[in-house]
Amino acid sequence: MQRIFSGIQPSGIPQLGNYLGAIRNWVSLQADHECVFCLVDMHAITVWQDPEKLRSQTLTQAAILLAAGIDTDRHILFNQSAVSAHARLAWIFNCVTRLGWLNRMTQFKDKVGKDRENHSAGLYVYPSLMAADILAYKATRVPVGEDQKQHLELANDIAQKFNHDYGLDFFPQVEALIPPAAARVMSLRDGTKKMSKSDPSAQSRIELTDDADTIALKLRRAKTDTDVLPSEPAGLAERPEARNLVTIYAALADLSVEEVLARHQGEGFGPFKKALTDVVVSVIAPIAQETTRLMQDETHLAAVLRSGAQRAQAIAEPIVSEAEKIVGFLK
Ligand code: ATP
Ligand code: MG
Repeated sequence: MQRIFSGIQPSGIPQLGNYLGAIRNWVSLQADHECVFCLVDMHAITVWQDPEKLRSQTLTQAAILLAAGIDTDRHILFNQSAVSAHARLAWIFNCVTRLGWLNRMTQFKDKVGKDRENHSAGLYVYPSLMAADILAYKATRVPVGEDQKQHLELANDIAQKFNHDYGLDFFPQVEALIPPAAARVMSLRDGTKKMSKSDPSAQSRIELTDDADTIALKLRRAKTDTDVLPSEPAGLAERPEARNLVTIYAALADLSVEEVLARHQGEGFGPFKKALTDVVVSVIAPIAQETTRLMQDETHLAAVLRSGAQRAQAIAEPIVSEAEKIVGFLK
């Protein structure tokens, strides 16, 4: 059975893009993989996080993942900082990674914009910590949204250089599992920007704890154009906002874009957004309800994460100890 590693930052409430790009895939991959799922709090603090909020968001996120169908009887769910192997391997990888590689990372450029000088060094080396997250478990498959593809290619470069520098075949190559539909869900306010849980505007995203009224309102306010829905996907080519809403509909209703257009062609966005609201609510409402129930017992959630961390540690410790020996650390 292949081992999967994947993470999500407790930097906010998970949004629809996280669900379609990652979480939904995590749930189905549990059937035939050994899965390690991680709330990556060390990644989250690469930008400022209020400490109390970070703690509470970590628990909320655990609840959301359980509510969405992560099975912690059979798989591992924990928070990153609880297993020191991540930080130790990340340091080794910081010394393997070349500055030129990091300079090419588009996520860093997107996140810092023009203000590069005032961002943390942690945000810059984020991809090398991500490589450590995965390779501390020698995981070979990583289910992520399309925005993480470049970071996974870098993880492979790091693994290859480590193996080459030390003349061993120690770390495996990893494969990105990117869902075929809705691999990049876009912001509701700007069809050229990806939907993000840390975007300052909550109107830009649907959160997995939003109730039906909030979802309806956010979709009603979502940016669109004044044209009707076309009969063919080609008619969406130059219409990023329209394409995004149709893609979300298709992914959530398990239909192709062609099928959605066949049903809704000629419709304006007023009625289409109503139909879309129903589809979004039908997927999110049960998750939101179960999250509320699970949040009533924070002690239980914390215990689930603690036990996950122990199981994660048991896998990662021997691998990272071996890597430390390979680089010459006196043990
Ligand atoms: P942040 O804004 O704090 O970076 P985020 O919304 O980008 O938050 P992450 O925790 O960085 O979420 O990513 C978690 C997972 O969700 C990753 O696998 C990522 O590829 C996926 N993901 C994030 N945003 C989207 C999106 N808009 N569409 C599809 N997948 C996404
Ligand atoms: Mg992100």
